[in-house]
Amino acid sequence: MQAYLDCNATTNPLPEVIEAMGACLRERWANPSSVHRAGVEARHALELAREQVARLIGCAPRAVTFTSGGTEAVQRVILGAIAARPERPAIATSALEHSAVRELVQSLEARGTRIHWLAHRPDGVIDLGALDRLLADHGASISVLSLMWANNETGVVQPIAEVAARCRTAGVVLHTDAVQWVGREATNWSTLGIDALTCSAHKLHGPKGVGAIATRAGAAIESILPGGPQELGRRAGTENVAGIVGFGVAAEAARMWIDREAATAPCRSMIATLERAIVAAVPDAIVNAAASPRLWNTSSIAFPGLEAEAILLLLSERGVAASAGAACSSGSLEPSPVLLAMGLPDPVAHGTIRLSVSRMTTDREIDHALKTIPGCIERLRRSGSPAA
Ligand code: PLP
Repeated sequence: MQAYLDCNATTNPLPEVIEAMGACLRERWANPSSVHRAGVEARHALELAREQVARLIGCAPRAVTFTSGGTEAVQRVILGAIAARPERPAIATSALEHSAVRELVQSLEARGTRIHWLAHRPDGVIDLGALDRLLADHGASISVLSLMWANNETGVVQPIAEVAARCRTAGVVLHTDAVQWVGREATNWSTLGIDALTCSAHKLHGPKGVGAIATRAGAAIESILPGGPQELGRRAGTENVAGIVGFGVAAEAARMWIDREAATAPCRSMIATLERAIVAAVPDAIVNAAASPRLWNTSSIAFPGLEAEAILLLLSERGVAASAGAACSSGSLEPSPVLLAMGLPDPVAHGTIRLSVSRMTTDREIDHALKTIPGCIERLRRSGSPAA
């Protein structure tokens, strides 16, 4: 038995996604910018996918720009926003962002860009009072504020609508990295007042290497790379039509699931069951950000005194796929910067693993994880395995 509880890393493409991509590669492989019939058919497939992704986000199809994934999408928005308004050279962001944002911003900071790091509360939620003060003092020099909607490691959800209202008053472009949000919760673009939202197909049962930016008309975000008229001049380069078609099919399936009443209830109870049972069986286990507003699919659990990597390897041997965040998966024993920024003590951050499910996760997978995890922790404790 295998339990795949690493859905924030990626999700399996749906059978209908694979089917649509295969058909596209066989029959719609022409360049969608070509004027001949085959090109026009590829263009139609692309535009249908744009409508499907737009419906999932709740925006107009014209607002959607396809990219090569979430990483490209977030970097295009941030770099495009500072390029658009040189008179506002500063950026605001949080220390809790995915490395796609954090490392871009750190590299800009190293080259002299002024970065305002947003204050957050111990529960990982942005401090709105501190944001008000920041915007009052420095808002006129900030071009873009980038804040993720839901955190990939802890699932903590930020008050995006409240932040959007404040950014609008201050004339600051608000970008939200919604890679972990879109496809899991309703997005309601039109009521939020966001300037740019970014998402990625492979987190919602679509293919890897495809993402999208939704941009409010008139938002001060420039195209950063010249070279072609594609995507309404916003992103040069021949489109990955098959990937985009797969994204469209995955987006449509996610939207239909979200639209069904109480669609997320069984999944919410999956994570709650998992957390309750683990804490009951391993009394010193800690659910990180337990009291914070959290995405229904993510649990960040610490086993203080153990090393996450040792836990993950033993779990993997016993058929449970989980994760500990980017640093651990690359073979480093450095604890996650996000968990450290939240103020977790070192032994807690070192011993934290992430369990993340999707709407396709089965009860059998949860049962298998429940039977496996406490035994693995006990075995590691008994063997005195790598302490932090
Ligand atoms: N932003 C967040 C919050 C993510 O979780 C990820 C991927 O894990 C990304 C951005 C990058 O997306 P992609 O893998 O499509 O480049």
